[in-house]
Amino acid sequence: MNKPILNFDIVISGAGSIGLVTALLLAKRDLNIAIIDPKPENIITKVDDTRNIALMQPSLNVLKYLGIFDEFLSLSRPLRKLHIVDATNRLLRAPEVVFTAQEVGYDYFALNIPMGKILQTLCAQLPNHKNITTIFGNEIKHIEQRPKALEIELKDNTKLTSKLLIGADGRNSFARTSAKITTSTKTYPQTALGFAFKHTRDLGDTSVEFHRKNGPFTLIPMQNLSDSSQTSLVWSESNQMAAEIKQYPQEKIAVLIEKYTNGIVGEVTEIGFIAGFPLTNTNCSTYAQNRTILVGEAAHILPPIGAQGMNLGFQDAAIADELIGNVLNENSGSGADIGSDQMMQLYNQHRKTDISARGKATDLLNISLLSNLLPVQFARGLGLFMLQSSKFLRTSIMKKALHPLGKTPATMR
Ligand SMILES: Cc1cc2nc3c(=O)[nH]c(=O)nc-3n(C[C@H](O)[C@H](O)[C@H](O)COP(=O)(O)OP(=O)(O)OC[C@H]3O[C@@H](n4cnc5c(N)ncnc54)[C@H](O)[C@@H]3O)c2cc1C
Repeated sequence: MNKPILNFDIVISGAGSIGLVTALLLAKRDLNIAIIDPKPENIITKVDDTRNIALMQPSLNVLKYLGIFDEFLSLSRPLRKLHIVDATNRLLRAPEVVFTAQEVGYDYFALNIPMGKILQTLCAQLPNHKNITTIFGNEIKHIEQRPKALEIELKDNTKLTSKLLIGADGRNSFARTSAKITTSTKTYPQTALGFAFKHTRDLGDTSVEFHRKNGPFTLIPMQNLSDSSQTSLVWSESNQMAAEIKQYPQEKIAVLIEKYTNGIVGEVTEIGFIAGFPLTNTNCSTYAQNRTILVGEAAHILPPIGAQGMNLGFQDAAIADELIGNVLNENSGSGADIGSDQMMQLYNQHRKTDISARGKATDLLNISLLSNLLPVQFARGLGLFMLQSSKFLRTSIMKKALHPLGKTPATMR
């Protein structure tokens, strides 16, 4: 016997952090939502690395709106200062720059939260919403575009219809390919190593970014343990060096960290699992097309510089939610087509400037570190010198790093 066709307003493909936050935002509206992920539920919330994510104030406002902010506080660390140190050892070296949250009117810029905690807390909210159907351990096999909806077939032959597909299925997004959205990718000769370590001297609530000639080496303090401090590290190196470091014994890595941080962390005592992330910068031809909206890494992959990736994904989710809400408010009842071409254009318009600006900024910063050309080093040094000298420049850069360019959606304010 054929299985019945399941009808939804929105299908979200991918239950990573951004797919989950998108589902929880949209669940507050009168919409019937499905969220699909090939991983079974107990695997979705597991992460195989000790990555931590600095979630900035506007993203934290989304968690407050969802009523789950307090659940993150117990395991996170506030970041009140960002200290940039030129450790390139080149002829032209830039001055040190310190950004403080107080300069932009915040107590702290961001909370540094373990990735596993983010996924577990978001996932645990799903059963509280009767209008979310979870389809885990299954995935989309085929999508057919019809005038008023998409027909979606899953691997186990279940058939769904949906007015809108939200592609939150990460860097190799199937939703993106099936919506015929193309990508352009710049691959860097670097890998970012992400891991946590324990140490004896606390960093306070200050994140320190050492600019080394193979890329940034960023210390992000984590919540203190009773017996020691712990910090997450994002360490960009040449691909070959990164592969070698992964094979080093812990003691050798500890000595390198102590050396590269000029002793500010004291003695390094324990190193967590080291995950390697090849650095790429991927952008899309459009962020919405053929009843499909892209969010998170399905829409953009940035090098892990300046804690931009997931925060940008939160912006995608909040803006998609706000635009969908507007369409529902303007067209009550069956008149609302949340997957219309007009909706696609609107979402694209709202995202393209922000996403490409952040992609370009992280690219520029990364290549300015890699370049041996004196004029490039001079320009980078001059930029940092101007930031060091001018409070106005520092605060405007901080505001741009924290908030979406253009109108901030209500859930992020
Ligand atoms: C070392 C490191 C440090 C970082 N630090 C920060 C930081 O401090 N701040 C910050 O903002 N960002 C940071 N980032 C970036 C951040 O980690 C990413 O932007 C974010 O995790 C992307 O989330 P996502 O949900 O879009 O994608 P993913 O986490 O990749 O989730 C995608 C989901 O889609 C599912 N999926 C895959 N294929 C399919 C399919 N065919 N159908 C359905 N589902 C599918 C997967 O199972 C997964 O659950 C960092 C990145 C790195 C590498």
